[in-house]
Amino acid sequence: MDKNQILKEFSSDPDKYYNVKLFQEQGFVRKSCSKCGRFFWTLDANRTLCPDDGTDTYSFIGEPPTSKRFDYTQAWKQVEEFFVKNNHTSVSRYPVVCRWRDDLYFTIASIVDFQRIMGSKVVFEFPANPLVVPQTCLRFKDLENVGVTGRHFSSFCMIGQHSVPNNQGYWKDECVDLDYRLLTDQFGIKKEEVVFVEDVWAGGGSFGPSLEYFVRGLELGNAVFTEFQGELGQHTTLDQRVIDMGAGLERFAWITMGTPTAYDCCFGPINEKLYNTIGIDSDSEVLRKYFTEIAKEIDHYDDLNEVRRLAIKNAGITDSQLTKMITPMEGMYLIADHLRTLIFAITDGALPSNVGGGYNLRMMLRRINATVSKLNLKLDIDDLIDSHIDYLKDTYPELDEKREDVKKILKIESTRYEESKGHMKKKAEKIREKGTPTVDELITFYESDGITPEYLKEVDAISEVPSSFYSKLSDLHQSEKKKAITELPLEQLPETETLFYKDDPMEFEAKVIKVFDDQVVLDKTSFYARGGGQEPDHGSIAGFEVVDVDKHADIIVHKLKGGIPNEGDTVQCKVNVTRRSNITKNHTSTHIINTSARSVLGSWVWQHSAFKDDDHARLDITHHSSLNDKQVKQIEDTANKMIKDNYPVNIEYFDRGTAEQKYGFRIYQGGVVPVKSVRIVSIEDKDIEACGGTHVKKTGDIELIKITKTKRIQDGVVRLEFVSGPNAFTYVKEQEEESKKKEQQAIVKQQLEKQREENKDKAREKIPVFIEKILAGESLESDEINNKGKLCFTSSDNYDDYFHQNFGKKLVAKDNSAAFCGIFEAGPTVRVMIFAGDKSGVNAGEIAKEIASILGGSGGGDAKFAQGGGKDTSKKDTAIEKAKSMILG
Ligand SMILES: [Zn+2]
Ligand SMILES: [Zn+2]
Repeated sequence: MDKNQILKEFSSDPDKYYNVKLFQEQGFVRKSCSKCGRFFWTLDANRTLCPDDGTDTYSFIGEPPTSKRFDYTQAWKQVEEFFVKNNHTSVSRYPVVCRWRDDLYFTIASIVDFQRIMGSKVVFEFPANPLVVPQTCLRFKDLENVGVTGRHFSSFCMIGQHSVPNNQGYWKDECVDLDYRLLTDQFGIKKEEVVFVEDVWAGGGSFGPSLEYFVRGLELGNAVFTEFQGELGQHTTLDQRVIDMGAGLERFAWITMGTPTAYDCCFGPINEKLYNTIGIDSDSEVLRKYFTEIAKEIDHYDDLNEVRRLAIKNAGITDSQLTKMITPMEGMYLIADHLRTLIFAITDGALPSNVGGGYNLRMMLRRINATVSKLNLKLDIDDLIDSHIDYLKDTYPELDEKREDVKKILKIESTRYEESKGHMKKKAEKIREKGTPTVDELITFYESDGITPEYLKEVDAISEVPSSFYSKLSDLHQSEKKKAITELPLEQLPETETLFYKDDPMEFEAKVIKVFDDQVVLDKTSFYARGGGQEPDHGSIAGFEVVDVDKHADIIVHKLKGGIPNEGDTVQCKVNVTRRSNITKNHTSTHIINTSARSVLGSWVWQHSAFKDDDHARLDITHHSSLNDKQVKQIEDTANKMIKDNYPVNIEYFDRGTAEQKYGFRIYQGGVVPVKSVRIVSIEDKDIEACGGTHVKKTGDIELIKITKTKRIQDGVVRLEFVSGPNAFTYVKEQEEESKKKEQQAIVKQQLEKQREENKDKAREKIPVFIEKILAGESLESDEINNKGKLCFTSSDNYDDYFHQNFGKKLVAKDNSAAFCGIFEAGPTVRVMIFAGDKSGVNAGEIAKEIASILGGSGGGDAKFAQGGGKDTSKKDTAIEKAKSMILG
């Protein structure tokens, strides 16, 4: 939908769309900007320019338009007090990780808190009406602006004022009146300073007029009246009209403080710490001048680097001021901003990684690390985390609870970054040689090697970070979450009655209402359809084997083997009870292992995905590292303790909003639940999830859980494979048999070794006897020595180093037409040793060289005595054959 078209339409009838009661009461006049033509409302009869073009733009820096001063946390107290006084409920913020929407990783606006998806429609669910919420929102599109522009943040607090017009809520007149009084009465801004600009909002199939309100060129808020749906001209009024007023808390603080940047009044005492570290005066006239210039120019250029150059010029910044003040300030603001965002995200269960939303978090931490090293700062990140949380905990007490977890995660991530620097350096050198990379190439470097453009700039591989890099990366990873939905042509069929949510009979009678190919639709069924990672039931329908069951919207389709009943038939159905029971035990086990893993590892553990079949199951959890044996054992023990404690597994249905308020967003372990009434499966207060699968009645029914294998399957995700119930006992038995077998084998091996050692000792004593026999022309076949006259060879394990050495030497000494060659294993190598008498016709050195080369090693010596060897034991037989033929012919 074309926004400009809608704006044109709405602005052509201002009385209908924009002229609220306040404007008449106070005497606001409507004007058209003499520069851009946009319509705005003001009390200043002389004003001719809209706030974007006005001469007063950003003049509040250094000279705020209010007598009162409120920093970030105080500003929220003012806003909250005002709205509560005016009959609003103050609602706690929702998580920044948007678990209730499968098209968003992070919460990007306050209204998102209350949007739920039903099919393809967005519906609103408000816990109170009207309400106000201090919603932390994460946005990564403008990352390169953060720290530089004075007003861009990677996370900010959106003051959400929401109302549904009914007997509790209100509509346009009261909304604008409240916003105006908030500015003038509560914050003490002069009436003439407030300017409302006509605008529109459109998205997700609906649209409506909006009034943006500005003070001195700074947009403080935007009151959107979501009112219509459909195409402009043929649009209809929504059943559920909604007021969506969003205002930036950071800006409220900024306008009252008039600091050079919004960062100066929003990060609390952390700034002071950073100023001291860098050693600059935050109250400098230079900064004020510079950031005012930045603020004025930012909207007029696409390229931030351009804006920066212009501001340096206009503010008359010297090179020394640039390197000693501006650049360190930008870095400092970046660190404070990014750290605050990471604190919120990790508190709410997100992990830095190279997949999905984790990308942005890792990117931010790497930007922090690169900045710290570029500016050569000595910073204690833990200390900065404490400062942030101490400052924010009054408004957001949940941050305090996760303080240590945040520190731990960031420490692990930073260590990884340090470890990867060597590899990154090599890569950067190659990039430098190849010349300036494109934005797409930069994205590839980050995605495949974790190399940020900041790092490349730091090591001079590139001269500037392209301004489109972050928005492009952010778009790439936002769209990833969107899923494709496939549907089967099953129109006109009624919803299948799901018996597994009712009495769940394992034998039942049903009517065949549709047959196609090898598939059958019944009027009702107890066969659980594949869903939520749970594999389907098997069994029989009308005597034919059920091999698969799937759900398509509300219709359950059974796949049969061996034949198919007729439409209209009433058929006997039987669910395979053993299979169902095993799957059910595995399913409830995923809940138990998930919560056990969280209690053992940390609060960041969430179910990533799960798979539950008859004889095996797996649970993928979010965790930063591979698990060690001790952790696996602890998780297994915790899980089995829950089985031993035999907790009841309760199933209750709740209205979705009620369930969220009562239990929080932890219920969405298995993902989004697109229904109004959610099925809450709870194991006491230990695990509470929204889940549609089949569960045991009591945890004790599972009897036993065994984790069979764990593996880090991707960055930030660990897989736990497990078995439960009878399969767990079978597994234990197999493991025991296996270890018994191994024990037995070890004993046999030990005995053999011992025997061999004894033989070797005995062999040493036999040396004189053997020599006598050989010289007498007798055969030593029975003692595993081959001889042809006085030429002898052995590769028997019964002889050791000492034997070969002494036997060979003595034999040749007694008779110079004799020769001996022995092959034996010594440690990891196979060795050969040769003694040859002058008249034996054997060349010891040649044999040693030849055999050693077969074994992949080297040999040396002379014609009379030589030795050698190699580590390629697989060639031992070849070496033996060769040596034997070389000496015996
Ligand atoms: Zn204008
Ligand atoms: Zn479940």
